[in-house]
Amino acid sequence: MDRVDVLVVGAGPSGLVSACGLAAHGVAVRVVDRASGPASTSRANILHARGVEVLQRLGAMGDLRERSLAPVGMRMYVRSRPIATMRFAPDDRESVQALFVSQARIEEQLRRRLTELGTDIEWDTMVTAATQDAAGVTVEFADGTRLRAKWLVGCDGAHSVVRGAAGIEFPGVSVMEQFLLADAHVAWDRDRSASAGFYHRDGLLLAIPMRDADDGGDLWRLMADVPAVDGQLSTADIVARFEELLPIRAGATGVRIREAIWTSAFRIHRRLASDYRAGRVLLAGDAAHIHSPIGGQGMNTGIGDAENLAWKLSLVVSGRADERLLDTYAAERRPLATEVLRTTSANTKILVGNGAVARFVRDRVFIPLLNSPKVQQKATRTASQLWVDYRQGPPG
Ligand SMILES: Cc1cc2nc3c(=O)[nH]c(=O)nc-3n(C[C@H](O)[C@H](O)[C@H](O)COP(=O)(O)OP(=O)(O)OC[C@H]3O[C@@H](n4cnc5c(N)ncnc54)[C@H](O)[C@@H]3O)c2cc1C
Repeated sequence: MDRVDVLVVGAGPSGLVSACGLAAHGVAVRVVDRASGPASTSRANILHARGVEVLQRLGAMGDLRERSLAPVGMRMYVRSRPIATMRFAPDDRESVQALFVSQARIEEQLRRRLTELGTDIEWDTMVTAATQDAAGVTVEFADGTRLRAKWLVGCDGAHSVVRGAAGIEFPGVSVMEQFLLADAHVAWDRDRSASAGFYHRDGLLLAIPMRDADDGGDLWRLMADVPAVDGQLSTADIVARFEELLPIRAGATGVRIREAIWTSAFRIHRRLASDYRAGRVLLAGDAAHIHSPIGGQGMNTGIGDAENLAWKLSLVVSGRADERLLDTYAAERRPLATEVLRTTSANTKILVGNGAVARFVRDRVFIPLLNSPKVQQKATRTASQLWVDYRQGPPG
């Protein structure tokens, strides 16, 4: 049976940052992913300032700055009337700012850096089970092979097999029945210098300009909450639904969706792992916490987890620290995830506005408040995660 110091399961942003951090400290690490290769479509579209810092420290920024869009604000409309413009308002004193860049590009740069550090991703390699004892973890793969790792890091997303194998619970609730998403080329003469949020009594519709591979200049991310329907929705169903919703919620008539490059219909859950560590198994990213995509915090929180975990695990693997250091990982990162879950769920509920009273508060109080520069600065700062520090955390 093959042996390795650390096996990272999952080559999404959390797994890649974990692996880069471990490899940079000289740890023998392997990375496996069940997918046949890198994803070309993208879920996250913003790398907040703390995420930029982490990638800089890892030497993984590459050309991300050149490939990102300038930060855009969001114009908010209530029943098609402009009510507020939520500007992105970073503090000029900070040395890093958020980048509007796709998750696919970020993962590409992290893979490039990982290869430079001497580790390649093993695609088509699905973990099916893991059992641990005092000295290590025996991992089983779908093809029947096994691997012995001293430590196992589960970055295998929301449906984590590693989390299940370690017996770590993932309690939580559903926040939103159904959200539709389409990244699509749209024949629409809308100004691309800002995103748009359309608030209607039936729900919301977001339109976010995206940078295209060849930047044809008409790629948009459309998102809307809709009542749940039974069964799978095809790309054609989702596109047709957006074509119905655009005139109703955005007052946009005659808009044609030319081609959708990615569509998704998903439920929003809020879930937090009961622990981030069980013996020799550790979790990071979506394997440990999931929540609403509104606010763009998921990938960034996972990147922060992974950096925190990687330097601690590398000290433990090399024998320079006792394994109790690993307990500070959950102690530092889990409270942050609790806070991210709380704020993203609260903001999503306010913005979706279920019920007449909630909509009144949203349209007359919450959205107009977003015009305030102070509110904009606070929201930008909160989203940046630059405020995260561990001074109150336990001693290592
Ligand atoms: C619509 C949408 C928009 C979003 N927007 C933002 C945003 O703007 N900003 C933001 O920060 N976040 C955003 N997020 C969240 C973000 O995409 C996730 O938080 C992020 O991808 C989590 O990264 P991860 O590496 O933890 O997990 P994932 O990206 O899910 O990666 C997990 C990897 O593990 C692999 N895997 C799974 N099971 C196994 C197995 N058994 N064996 C081997 N490999 C396995 C998978 O193939 C996958 O590659 C958004 C999410 C959605 C759905």
